[in-house]
Amino acid sequence: MDHGGITFSHVRKEYPDGTVAVEDLTLEVRPGEIMCLVGPSGCGKSTTLRMVNRLVEPTSGTITVDGADVMSQPAVELRRSIGYVIQHVGLLPHRRVADNVATVPSLMKWPKERTAARVDELLSLVGLEPDVHGVRYPHELSGGQRQRVGVARALAAEPPVMLMDEPFGAVDPQGRRRLQQEFMQLQRQLGLTVVMVTHDMREAALMADRVAVFSTGGVLEQLGSAEEVSESPANEFVADFVSDFS
Ligand code: ADP
Repeated sequence: MDHGGITFSHVRKEYPDGTVAVEDLTLEVRPGEIMCLVGPSGCGKSTTLRMVNRLVEPTSGTITVDGADVMSQPAVELRRSIGYVIQHVGLLPHRRVADNVATVPSLMKWPKERTAARVDELLSLVGLEPDVHGVRYPHELSGGQRQRVGVARALAAEPPVMLMDEPFGAVDPQGRRRLQQEFMQLQRQLGLTVVMVTHDMREAALMADRVAVFSTGGVLEQLGSAEEVSESPANEFVADFVSDFS
């Protein structure tokens, strides 16, 4: 079953120092799709992503997840209900891998047995062995394995929506390709709605159902499949941006 979509309606973010990261964004992420946000550095991709789980609060406009206004929910609960994966996964170094994956279920006070079963299931799902990798500490894993743990942790509470910010950026190219493929399988299987920031148009072409090309100020220059965007760029800006990758 596909889960909830995300909508942005006239969203603006002005940071306290006066920087307008996102001017007036209206965008709909469909349930069950992978949408990649691409564009040059500083164009507002991460700000857009982080407004969905309120790590950054919008200055004005409305964002909904599964039909509910994010500002109408307590930020902590909202964050627990949305998976979030970043480049440097931010695992707790002094806690074992299994405990890292169990972070959100523990906060939500799931019974121990349910949490343990879920952790085993998730580690297997992302291609790690619960008995081998679960008992290790993060520094005892490779970069790619740590990234898998980050994905498992983000999936722990069965979120309908995943936000990913350069999730595979720190993984070597070969490992990255495998992770991308495996994540796509997982995403289809779970019907997850995914918004992913990447600076890599190739990654977007491989993974995205639709690509949103941003220019400075979170201005949406084009929205379409990677093919549409590269074969029929809407304007010179998009043409220039995609030409760097061909
Ligand atoms: P991207 O992810 O596309 O690189 P960001 O969303 O990180 O872009 O940043 C968009 C703009 O907002 C940039 O000009 C950046 O410098 C600025 N910005 C990001 N975070 C902050 C902040 N906390 N305070 C002030 N300006 C910020």
